[in-house]
Parts: sequence; structure tokens; C-alpha cells
Amino acid sequence: MSDVTTTRFKNYRNPVKFILALIYFGLPFVKIGGESALRFDIPSLRLYLFGTSIWIENFFIILVFTFFITFLFISLTQIYGRIWCGWMCPQTIFCDYTGFMAKLSGSPVVKKVLSHLAVLGMSVLISAASIWYFVSPYEFLARYASGNAGAVINSFMIVLVIISYLNFAFWRRKFCATICPYSMLQSVMFDDKTLIVSMKQDRMDECVSCNGCVNVCPTGIDIRQGYDSKCIACAQCIDACANTMTDYHAETLIGYQYGEQNKKKFFRPTVMITSAITLIFGVLLLFLALTMTPYEFEVFPNQQFLPRYKDGYIINSYEIKIKNTTDKKMNVSISIPGVEGYKITPDTKFTVDPDKTFKEKVFLFLPEKMFEKKSILGFKFISKADDAKTTVLESDASFRRPIRRKK
Ligand code: SF4
Ligand code: SF4
Repeated sequence: MSDVTTTRFKNYRNPVKFILALIYFGLPFVKIGGESALRFDIPSLRLYLFGTSIWIENFFIILVFTFFITFLFISLTQIYGRIWCGWMCPQTIFCDYTGFMAKLSGSPVVKKVLSHLAVLGMSVLISAASIWYFVSPYEFLARYASGNAGAVINSFMIVLVIISYLNFAFWRRKFCATICPYSMLQSVMFDDKTLIVSMKQDRMDECVSCNGCVNVCPTGIDIRQGYDSKCIACAQCIDACANTMTDYHAETLIGYQYGEQNKKKFFRPTVMITSAITLIFGVLLLFLALTMTPYEFEVFPNQQFLPRYKDGYIINSYEIKIKNTTDKKMNVSISIPGVEGYKITPDTKFTVDPDKTFKEKVFLFLPEKMFEKKSILGFKFISKADDAKTTVLESDASFRRPIRRKK
């Protein structure tokens, strides 16, 4: 029995492509806590992120997330090269699913027309799915079903369908080599120990010149000539060569290896620097995520109200501002811990509607005798929300004695 490896990369790559395509089309339909698992809602400028929602005001966290992902990508690219391009990039996945377009030359007109119609249909689906990350697919489909999609959605659909169709029907892999910014940055991120697809240097003379590797290459590379920056590390040439070499009872002549000399070394200065930066942004992101609150609480002095005496009390007034950043009603109560004998009117409990900012003027009564020896008191308003975490927030304030007592 032959001891030649019969496993092919396509046995892994095809399921990976299928699962990623499924996620791309299916994720917008998934709801967590009644809202999309992942969607940027344009009208409310809010990002729904797996059960959390982030307002545009909190976009510092998105900025940190962007830096984290960017440096993570750079680190992984320094080590694993273009694995993303060959295995996970939507451009590659959908180019593979429309691979029949690359084989149309010389085909009958009917086949060409049907192929273009199929790509147009896929472009409509891909464009719709892109929009579902901004407009809920349930709303999107309901709007089209009622013939009331609206000018904005229609315009985006038309533009995206045209771009997708041109891309998958004509540009295809040229996109990777000419437009894609990630591809353009590869040369800066690669070094002589980055994972690449390459001919095995010590077995080059075994090549039988079947051209299998060249024929399957989606970017038109002849990998036998050495590494080419257009290579997307898809491993199709590895499998093609493995098929040929099976007849010669030998392993494939092409493989994944760390640089042309196949020297594996993860801990090298460039990788360690970018990994350290990734870690810093990761920790910062975690900190921001853990300290993010479901509402905001601020207290301002009510400038229209002058402090005054009344029935043994001094009265100051404040404006309470509570912003509910969740999509559920929230009850918030306020108090002043550590201060004896205070009264707050007209109320200390407020109900704030989802996505709304609530403002209310309140009056704080403090016993007059507290101000016999001082004219100002610094303290903190504490707010407590009855959300799932019973979030407690505080806001600094000060209380003034009136300048003079009215006769
Ligand atoms: S050379 Fe091989 S791994 Fe690179 S793009 Fe072509 S087929 Fe894919
Ligand atoms: S598939 Fe293998 S044997 Fe055939 S030409 Fe390419 S490297 Fe040579």
C-alpha cells in the first residue's frame, strides 16, 4: 500500500469557505436580546455587537477595537502570510463560488448569458447581505415585500450590485493584486520567516512539468519560478501537485513553509513588537468593555434658581440628566449617601425610555444648621439603575448657602 499522503487542503478549505459564507449571510438574522447580533444602526448611530450596544459617543471603544484588529492582523500576517486571503477573505470565497466565470472563454453564448445571470443573482444576494449589517434583514425584506424600500436602500442596492457584478464577473483576482489595500501592504509585513506557499527547494528536480500547479492557480502564478507577491496562499497548487505526484508514489513538491528556506521562528523582533502592541490594545479593549455602562448620569447646577432658606432648610436646585443607552426602559433612583437629613423633591425615581435622554430639575433641601460654620458643601449624587447589573454611577455636585437671608 502507498504511504503517500492522500489528504488534500481542499478537504479543509471547502468546509471553511462554506461555513464563512453561511456566517456572512446568516449572522444578520441572528438576534441577541431582541436586537441584531452584529449591525451598525444608521438612524440611531449605534453599533449592536453580540448583545451589547455602543453609541457613537462611545466610539473610542470602536477606535481601540479597530487598532486591536489591525495589529492582530499585522502580527498574524507576519507569521502566517496571506492565509486570510486564501482561506477566509470574502473576495476569495465568492470568487471561488463564481469560479465558472473564469472558464467561459470559447463557451456557447447561452452558457455565457446564463453564467452572467447567475453572477448577477449572486451579486444581488451579496449586496443585500452587506446592507443587512446596517438595516435589519427583517426590516429590509419587509420593506421590499411591501414595495416600500425607500430611495436610500434602493440607491445602495443598485451601486453595490453594479460593483459586485463587475467584480465577480470581470475583475475577480485582479482586485486582490491591484485594489485591495491589505494586499498592497503585504511586502511591508513579510520577512524571510513568514509562512508562504513554495516549491520544496530540495525536490525541484522531481518536477514532471505537468503544469497542474499553474493551471489551477487562481492568480495565474507559476510557483516553480519562486515566491510571487500575488500568491494568496490558497494551497490549490499544493493539491494539484499532490494529485500528479501520487502517480509517482511521491508527496507533493509544493507546500506551506516558513520562508523559502523553511525556517520557523515565531519570536522575532518585528513580530514581538506588533504582538505587544496588539496585547496593549486588547487589554485596553477589555477594560473599556468591562467598564462600559448601560446609561450615563450627570448632574448640573440649575443656574436659574438661587439658593434660599425655607422652614429650617436651605434649598439648592440641580438638573439631572440620564441617558439610557439600552433598548429597554430603565428605572433610575438617585440618593446622596453620607449626607444626613436631606430631602429631594419632586422625586428621586425616574423612568427613562429606551435610547432617550431624560432631564429633570430637582430641589435639594439640607438642614440649615449644617451651614452654621461653612458656606459650601461638596458631595456626590449617586444613581442606581434597575438594569441587569444594577449599575451605580456618581456625579460630583456642591451645595451653597444663600449670600443673605431674606427678611
Ligand atoms: S501559487 Fe498556489 S497558493 Fe499561490 S495563489 Fe497560486 S495556487 Fe494559490
Ligand atoms: S504540479 Fe508539481 S509536478 Fe506538476 S508542474 Fe507543478 S510542481 Fe511540477
